[in-house]
Amino acid sequence: MTAEPTIDSHGDQTATPAPVTVRASLSPSRAADFKTCPLLYRFRSIDRLPERPTVEQARGTLVHAVLERLFDLPAAARTPESAGDLVAPQWDRLVTEEPELSMLFADGDVVGPQEFLRSATALLDGYFAVEDPRRLEPAEREALISAVVDDELLIRGYLDRLDVAPDGALRVVDYKTGGAPREAFEARALFQLKFYALVLWRTRGVVPRVLRLLYLKDAEVCDYAPEADELVRFERTVVALWRAIEQATARQDFRPRPSRLCDWCNHQALCPSYGGTPPPFPTSAAAPDPLVDARSRPVAPGADE
Ligand code: SF4
Repeated sequence: MTAEPTIDSHGDQTATPAPVTVRASLSPSRAADFKTCPLLYRFRSIDRLPERPTVEQARGTLVHAVLERLFDLPAAARTPESAGDLVAPQWDRLVTEEPELSMLFADGDVVGPQEFLRSATALLDGYFAVEDPRRLEPAEREALISAVVDDELLIRGYLDRLDVAPDGALRVVDYKTGGAPREAFEARALFQLKFYALVLWRTRGVVPRVLRLLYLKDAEVCDYAPEADELVRFERTVVALWRAIEQATARQDFRPRPSRLCDWCNHQALCPSYGGTPPPFPTSAAAPDPLVDARSRPVAPGADE
């Protein structure tokens, strides 16, 4: 069938792109789960086992929310004091939206609510030690971005922040709030940022100049400059990962891959590597779709909080 010609914004005649049939979707979190441990991917994306939110995860969600709202303020008002003033109201909002968060302190263990809010404010101090938000005007915050690769796989996720320089250069910024050893998670964090870089490149035709990790606890910045060649290879990796997920699903064969990240896994009790037995494979898992939880901030292996 011949594609209908259309007129583009410059008045030139162009061919309508062939329709794309998306067969599946993949978020960076779920792709990284499979890379970390196929069984973890199964527990989260196919069995959809609930995971009890942890204090670290909740703190990460809260700090991300505050940093997002901070940029709603006029530039001159983006001070540490203003950010501190946002902490309690944003926590109240999150608890209203997810009442189970209020159960975090029910056991009376680890920290109480006041100490929790203070620890979130301390992370914000780490943010102000490495950036001055009065000098920034982000192009996007908590933005959903997506692209189709290999003609049928939708890759998508929410990036924390996208800065666009006057010359059009892109900088992808990701806030890291976890207290876990950084070396245990850095590869996963970079995988996530390359995922976003690939989406931006495929949709905007521009390779981001900088992928930036902001480690708030340590008040450190980690910059990475991706290359187009590297993103081509990364795209192949993502597609190969999806094929491996499809194969594992067809065979109902998701094996555990123990590592030090098991310490952060919610599902040790069901894991054969820890003497557990996984539940029966769900019969409706023919086409797992990790899209539904692309927004989540997982805390277990590879926490990207
Ligand atoms: S405990 Fe470790 S090996 Fe088992 S599912 Fe979790 S991450 Fe995988």
